[in-house]
Amino acid sequence: QIDQDSRKFAVLREAFGFAAFRAGQEPIVDALIDGRNVLAIMPTGAGKSLCYQLPALVRGGLAIVVSPLIALMDDQVAALKLAGLAAEAIHSGKTREVNVAIWRRVVRGAVRLLYLSPERLMAPRMLAALRRLPVCLIAIDEAHCISQWGHSFRADYLGLGALREAFPDVPLAAVTATADRATRDEICDRLFGGAVETIVCGFDRPNIRLTVLAKSNAQRQIERLVRERPGESGIIYRISRRKVEETAAALQGLGVRALPYHAGMSVAERAANQETFLAEAGVVMVATVAFGMGIDKSNVRYVIHGDVPGSLEAYYQEIGRAGRDGAPSDAVMLYGREDVRTRRRFIEEQDCDEERKRIEALRLEALVGFCETTSCRRQVLLGYFGEASGPCGNCDICLVPPQFVDATPAARLAIDM
Ligand code: ADP
Ligand code: MG
Ligand code: ZN
Repeated sequence: QIDQDSRKFAVLREAFGFAAFRAGQEPIVDALIDGRNVLAIMPTGAGKSLCYQLPALVRGGLAIVVSPLIALMDDQVAALKLAGLAAEAIHSGKTREVNVAIWRRVVRGAVRLLYLSPERLMAPRMLAALRRLPVCLIAIDEAHCISQWGHSFRADYLGLGALREAFPDVPLAAVTATADRATRDEICDRLFGGAVETIVCGFDRPNIRLTVLAKSNAQRQIERLVRERPGESGIIYRISRRKVEETAAALQGLGVRALPYHAGMSVAERAANQETFLAEAGVVMVATVAFGMGIDKSNVRYVIHGDVPGSLEAYYQEIGRAGRDGAPSDAVMLYGREDVRTRRRFIEEQDCDEERKRIEALRLEALVGFCETTSCRRQVLLGYFGEASGPCGNCDICLVPPQFVDATPAARLAIDM
């Protein structure tokens, strides 16, 4: 054990050049070195690749990594090669000759990490050939691609469930950034055939102060919140295009540099507003959920939800756009029961099967639970994702405990504004 530990740290330092593990990496690494299956859930950028790359080197033999995109495979292989590690990818973006040459090196034992697309891996001849090699670990990256309800569903991922019979003694790792319970359950069922050791870490964004206010007059409340933060960059989410337009116009009327963003605007207009928001300081983006994917602006100081978002995952994603620089930032949500009823109706009116509606309703209820909690909000939020934590000291409940206000959440909400 001591020996294994020192090997682990030696590989971390010497092969990867890192001084220490990041939060959450070590328990995942340990599980895989010990030969246990694991589902690892960490946000984007947290360092999930290392969690399977390092055990692959410690265990010795050949590690297989499944990835959904050629570009992702090539990026990881390039980074590993740069570090002097024997990694290769076989995929359809290479000529047959190149793939064959790589495969010869794999068979000779010259490759430690082999990246494959799911369809390559699951081809019967490939599986049969790999079963004759000393496979030490199989990692499924972007494992949420197995979820049929996700945006990134890959039919090829469904077949990966057969791996546990093809390689019964090889530890299997699934890694993803998805925070969603239903998706995780799908990963467990389809890939592992049931429950599996699950490690969740790194979702906390401690510099973002969480506040939920009772919604009374949303426009007036938003104006007050914005005026309290003069000259700062912020994002205001509203539920509809109409409300986006209204809020942006009203803020402009107050002299705030507010810009609208929603899917009803032309591509050129949206691009121009996004560009201004990214390039300049003190711009307030008033937007529907259409805004934010891949937005990387480090000094967004606040995110205001003028209406209740659709789920706790959506809320988490959206507030995560604040405070990327680590400086104190605010997430303020206006919470009204009327909004919740509207959301419930949206779900009911959707054109989809009952099971899906049931799951979406549960996701919405989790958000309601977060809004109405009388204990630390961050604990509720992280707990929903499966990450344990203590009271945070940086949410409205921690800062002004309900017993000092009023015992009942309804009464508390009623006097908040
Ligand atoms: P993810 O897949 O979770 O989005 P990556 O595996 O691509 O994240 O890692 C993100 C970045 O973090 C990479 O540049 C990687 O080199 C770096 N990284 C990973 N682990 C560590 C560590 N223990 N110390 C420092 N940097 C790390
Ligand atoms: Mg990754
Ligand atoms: Zn708290």
